[in-house]
Amino acid sequence: MSAASPSYIDTYYRRTLASGESYPPAEGPIKTEVCIVGGGLAGLTAALELARAGRSVVLLEAERIAWGASGRNGGFVSPGYATSLAAIERQAGRDQADELYRLTMEGVDIVRHNIESLGIVDAAPSPGIMRVVRHDGGAALQQERDAQEKRFGRNLRYLDREATRALLSSPKYHAALADDDAFHFHPLNYARGLAREITRLRGTIHEGSPVLAAELDGPIKRLRTARATIEAEQVLFTTGGYTGNLFAPLKRAFLPIATYVLLTEAAPELIGEAIRTSAGVGDDRRAGDYYRLVEGGSRILWGGRITTRTTEPRNVAALLRHEMVTTYPQLEKLKVELAWSGLMSYARHLMPQIGQYRPGVWYCTAFGGHGMNTTAAGGTVIAEAIRGENDRYRLFAPFGLVWNGGPFGTAAVQLTYWRYQAADALRERQR
Ligand SMILES: Cc1cc2nc3c(=O)[nH]c(=O)nc-3n(C[C@H](O)[C@H](O)[C@H](O)COP(=O)(O)OP(=O)(O)OC[C@H]3O[C@@H](n4cnc5c(N)ncnc54)[C@H](O)[C@@H]3O)c2cc1C
Repeated sequence: MSAASPSYIDTYYRRTLASGESYPPAEGPIKTEVCIVGGGLAGLTAALELARAGRSVVLLEAERIAWGASGRNGGFVSPGYATSLAAIERQAGRDQADELYRLTMEGVDIVRHNIESLGIVDAAPSPGIMRVVRHDGGAALQQERDAQEKRFGRNLRYLDREATRALLSSPKYHAALADDDAFHFHPLNYARGLAREITRLRGTIHEGSPVLAAELDGPIKRLRTARATIEAEQVLFTTGGYTGNLFAPLKRAFLPIATYVLLTEAAPELIGEAIRTSAGVGDDRRAGDYYRLVEGGSRILWGGRITTRTTEPRNVAALLRHEMVTTYPQLEKLKVELAWSGLMSYARHLMPQIGQYRPGVWYCTAFGGHGMNTTAAGGTVIAEAIRGENDRYRLFAPFGLVWNGGPFGTAAVQLTYWRYQAADALRERQR
């Protein structure tokens, strides 16, 4: 991690950054009530909710605000977790699963409300996310639409093959479920909007301030960066897939998983032959494709694939491009301008890890590939707990800091993914 002048990696979001403010590295002795380690959307949301309540909060970010997954992701904001409702229900029971799911709907609303109330115009929501199926799964989609309406009052729209292909000219797609309340946005501009508000409310942010050591015993915790020692009554770790060895129980409890995004050249007419919706699109395969039009429909931002190690970007661009072109053969000539990767953190149970490790030591992490709404929910429930208002964070108790399986865990994830890919390919061929 760089100590001086850290910068964002090259992504679409960095290239379209709305504002240029930066925050100085931490220096000297600092005292605060709450110290947050990690300036992604989990840490920023918690910091904002604490600052709004007038609490003294210092947020330390190793690089730049939202330098990690939060500032380089697909930008899809929709309810749900990285695992299915059925899996949550098996572990936590039906009532708790319902409460947990409603919390993720609240997460979507929190993001939307923050954008509106803080006037973050360069992260304005683009409405709509469609989930498409690449096999004949229309009946299951309609059942899901009905169940979601009955259980959570959500209004999803079913699109049959004809309606789906009128918007997405791909021979791969058979039906879709559209969620008009979900949206996509510019996550880096959003994160930086939250940072501005935190400092306006007298919270403190330090970029270029990796925490190198932490003493967490006793009522006052001590954190050390290269040039500062921070004393805090409460410490919150929100270091996501970039968690190092600072706090061993967290490091042991997740697997860093890499995933990838590309940006195409600007070619609005060619792209319009394939994609005729401003909604974001995701397919139903595990670690399937997701994409959306940006810059008024002139470029595609296309994400997908996961690996347990970071593959070279050139290779990634080719792999993702292959996915794009096999889905839309008419885009054969569309060039890739840029590709990048990012790390997500996954627990073995695929649910976020949110809780209190010991008095005054909190963690809020492992949001997997579904973090835009869940970081908002997670950061909020942790702030509520620190403010002593409620213990909603305990909803996550069934999904604790379980051991990630070490190198065996990593190998198992990769093998499972390959098995899923093979099963998905077979399912498509059998359609
Ligand atoms: C390519 C990609 C696409 C994705 N697409 C979507 C999507 O479309 N929709 C969706 O819902 N989710 C998506 N996700 C997942 C989502 O981005 C993450 O779940 C979420 O951003 C995690 O936020 P976080 O705050 O937990 O972690 P991060 O955003 O990764 O932030 C952690 C921060 O901690 C800092 N840090 C680490 N160690 C230290 C230290 N010792 N001291 C100080 N700071 C430290 C890091 O520098 C980093 O900035 C995607 C993820 C990736 C990578």
